[in-house]
Amino acid sequence: MPATPISEPDAMTTGWPRRLAPPAIATFRDAEGAPAFGAQVPIKPLDAPRLLHLNTELAADLGIEDGPETRDALAATAGGGDAAACTDGFASVYAGHQFGIFVPQLGDGRATIIGTLRDHRGQDQELQLKGAGPTPYSRFADGRAVLRSTVREYLASEALHALGIPTTRALAIVGSDTPVQRETVERAAVLYRVAPSHLRFGHFEYLAATGRTEDLRALATHALARFRPDLEPTPEGFRAWLSDIVARTARLVAQWQGVGFCHGVMNTDNFSILGLTIDYGPYGFMERFHRAHICNHSDHEGRYAYARQPAIAQWNCARMISACLSLVADDGADNDERIALAQPVLDAFASAYSASALAIWRDKLGLREARDGDDALVNDLLERMEASDADFARTFRALADLRIDGGDPLADHLGEDEAATGWLSRYRERLRAEHSDDDARRDRMRRTNPRFVLRNWLAQHAISAAESGDPAPLDRLLDCLRRPFDEQPECADLDAPPPDWAAGLSVSCSS
Ligand code: AMP
Ligand code: MG
Repeated sequence: MPATPISEPDAMTTGWPRRLAPPAIATFRDAEGAPAFGAQVPIKPLDAPRLLHLNTELAADLGIEDGPETRDALAATAGGGDAAACTDGFASVYAGHQFGIFVPQLGDGRATIIGTLRDHRGQDQELQLKGAGPTPYSRFADGRAVLRSTVREYLASEALHALGIPTTRALAIVGSDTPVQRETVERAAVLYRVAPSHLRFGHFEYLAATGRTEDLRALATHALARFRPDLEPTPEGFRAWLSDIVARTARLVAQWQGVGFCHGVMNTDNFSILGLTIDYGPYGFMERFHRAHICNHSDHEGRYAYARQPAIAQWNCARMISACLSLVADDGADNDERIALAQPVLDAFASAYSASALAIWRDKLGLREARDGDDALVNDLLERMEASDADFARTFRALADLRIDGGDPLADHLGEDEAATGWLSRYRERLRAEHSDDDARRDRMRRTNPRFVLRNWLAQHAISAAESGDPAPLDRLLDCLRRPFDEQPECADLDAPPPDWAAGLSVSCSS
């Protein structure tokens, strides 16, 4: 049983600093009374910490009132100078399959949870500082994050959130003068990351690999009680919980595919048990549609290429379920019996993924009815897009403007050859078959196909400006990406073709 500490009653505090309730994972103790799943670590001081960006909407949702004192105090906390409240955080230990290879111990090497806050819906949210200094799990690294990677995570998590895709959130960026050595010397920054839970598949893999079956059960029981309180911690309950994780993961990846989001490092330590997108590194929104697109320059084999994301997510679910085999059957069961009970849980991934994906593609095409052949219609469109090097987001947006009996707004995207015109007539036929109304369909399609996505060059432009002390392009880009489906004519330049300087841009694991 975890020790449950008594804490002060919730006060109606706004602003910052603030005394936070400890995260649940920090309250579990081992036989010696030490934290069972990680370690408390001091926040390491930064030189001249300053708040570079505050997500005022999320802050309000968490009951943090914006104001100059709040902003200074948030910077002071992340910079290790907050004597009033948070001086340390909790770093958890986990394992993970990195590029397919099991690494028995990883852990939060540069992220610590400083506590939890209750949001306006009454849900507890963990506040994590990413880049706050070394932890026992830093291995040989410095525990820091550079401004560049912090801005990238901030942008992507807010962009995905606005697209309706589950993700960790970003509350604030704190910049500093602290130098950090990467390929060149850069500046350290800290990201305030927010999620109901930061538990990853890797937490369970770690406990399974170290034979800590009772601790694994305790952690799973905690997750169950928090996120599926309708379930009992029995073999049936745990199987239902795992099925939920599989379903959430399948749906998440289907949503990624639908906007061309490539995660870049789909290791099991970067997979959330809540089906949230987590750990933004060398991610990318695919621009020109290519199924083999690899966004991470360091992924030489293309393990995490766009088209492989669903299969990898399923493989990751297999690792999670394997780690939890001890939970899925009664004590007397042997391994074969456990596997027989667990296999259907995993097998449900395929149908969950196909159902989610097909529904998403139908929405993208503005189809209201489900008909045989829709799958082929989608696949043939994607093939045309690949053949003509079409821009993913712009093509679907243009498709919204197609009139059943009108001209062809797609020539720029799909070309004008027979294959393209053939596909367009099939699409028009399909629309006629369900008596589709052009205007209503366009409105629907514009609510599901974004006008604006986070293109790499836009992120790079915002980063370069932020690095030279100008936060305006970052603020403007975020404003635009918060309403990705709106036309926003004043932001047309954020949908322009990449400028010449962006031609050779690439992202790798360095962050
Ligand atoms: P990632 O590839 O970012 O998911 O990181 C893999 C592991 O390396 C995680 O356990 C991270 O916490 C850790 N890590 C990444 N960068 C650093 C760093 N600069 N300092 C310490 N640990 C790090
Ligand atoms: Mg990670």
